[in-house]
Amino acid sequence: MSNRGRFAPSPTGTLHFGSLVAALGSWLRARSTGGEWFVRIEDIDPPREVPGAAEAIVRQLIAFGLMPDGPVIRQSADRARHAAARDRLLAAGLAYRCACSRTDLAPYGSRHPARCIAPPPAADRPAAVRLRVPSGIVGFDDAVQGPIEQDVAAEVGDFVIWRNDGWPAYQLAVVVDDAAQGVTEVVRGADLLDSTPRQYLLQRMLCLPHPRWMHLPLALDAAGRKLGKRDQAHPVDPADPLPALRAALGFLGQAVPDGDDLHGLLAAAVRAFDPARIPRGTQPAPGRDATQREVS
Ligand code: GLU
Repeated sequence: MSNRGRFAPSPTGTLHFGSLVAALGSWLRARSTGGEWFVRIEDIDPPREVPGAAEAIVRQLIAFGLMPDGPVIRQSADRARHAAARDRLLAAGLAYRCACSRTDLAPYGSRHPARCIAPPPAADRPAAVRLRVPSGIVGFDDAVQGPIEQDVAAEVGDFVIWRNDGWPAYQLAVVVDDAAQGVTEVVRGADLLDSTPRQYLLQRMLCLPHPRWMHLPLALDAAGRKLGKRDQAHPVDPADPLPALRAALGFLGQAVPDGDDLHGLLAAAVRAFDPARIPRGTQPAPGRDATQREVS
């Protein structure tokens, strides 16, 4: 089966340098293995969504020459599929409805204890659904970060797979949709590495295949924080994509081809792509002057 990758941004803002790195890394990996690449807008958190951000992200990707191989999918379009996965877990006794509030959980360091603090919610009341996390170490090999292990039960506890506002939680939705789209390789920022053991577990409990994982180094701002969409750190300029593309290739440890033709540069980058050169750790993002041409 050929490789199939994806870029799955949440529409909480436009692309910044860090998200461009994730988009470019996943695109390069798919293209350099002769595989396909898709874009899925993860719009399952309406309060955090910025109106127009989804459309702006797609326009930016196109301006950077990163064309998906099919229609852009919106995660919110298939909530029935997410609900079906939730119901399978509930029916198998692998998940349970929970009405514990943040205040209830505060004394436990926000980790859910073995038994709910709040009384069981009535069947007709909105409630979160938590996965009953089995004990034991979850381990997998990340193509950039190496072997990863986590005792999810001890370190995370029973986590939410369905929110009490009626929306699927990220961990469930991402696993269900990656499987439904036939994604074979997940290439994304290392900020999601600590979610991956939870996703591995959900795949196992839902009998879904595990993709390969490749977590890319995180871009940090001058204060050493992860770049965030909401603070509009390090925006990239779709009107002039080459400076940011070159900076993103350099950030990923890749050779930066010469030339001023966008598609020529991308094609050369695909030919030269070498995942072994991707650095592991966090790195400072290049300054604004490296990703954007000075406006005179
Ligand atoms: N939607 C998530 C985000 O924008 C990324 C999901 C993923 O790549 O698994 O942070």
